[in-house]
Amino acid sequence: MTALIQAAKSLLLKEFVAAFWLSIKYMFAPKVTINYPYEKGPISPRFRGEHALRRYANGEERCIACKLCEAICPAQAITIEAEPRDDGSRRTTRYDIDMTKCIYCGFCQEACPVDAIVEGPNFEFATETRAELMYDKNKLLANGDRWERVIASNIAADAPYR
Ligand code: SF4
Ligand code: SF4
Repeated sequence: MTALIQAAKSLLLKEFVAAFWLSIKYMFAPKVTINYPYEKGPISPRFRGEHALRRYANGEERCIACKLCEAICPAQAITIEAEPRDDGSRRTTRYDIDMTKCIYCGFCQEACPVDAIVEGPNFEFATETRAELMYDKNKLLANGDRWERVIASNIAADAPYR
């Protein structure tokens, strides 16, 4: 009986020492967590975040109102109205996305022939009201203006794989 108790004590001591050294090892190892929101981790160029409508460098809207994004959206989250301009070009008069319906599938971005609608890198767009998640054209264009540099660089980084 005494030998059994001694063996158990020895085993416990061994386990304690192993656990202790494991703790010491991880105390000095590089941390695997980050101090969000003050620190942020890297994001893939293919990350599908908040939507944005892009412009060309001269400020003209890329969107040609072809409505392919509206047609392909499986959540029916996109609503577009359009009419021709005086110069004969076709542009949207309304471009809404109901972000409460969106499932972030990326189909709208894939369907767009001119890279106008994209899912940008922004993932911090939580709101306090439902109404704020009804995006209109102005909001989407403002997102495009805000994120254009990162969006263009992400599209360029992904281009060789497409
Ligand atoms: S990401 Fe998918 S669900 Fe969301 S608007 Fe685009 S097509 Fe629709
Ligand atoms: S965002 Fe692209 S796919 Fe959608 S209507 Fe405009 S040009 Fe067409």
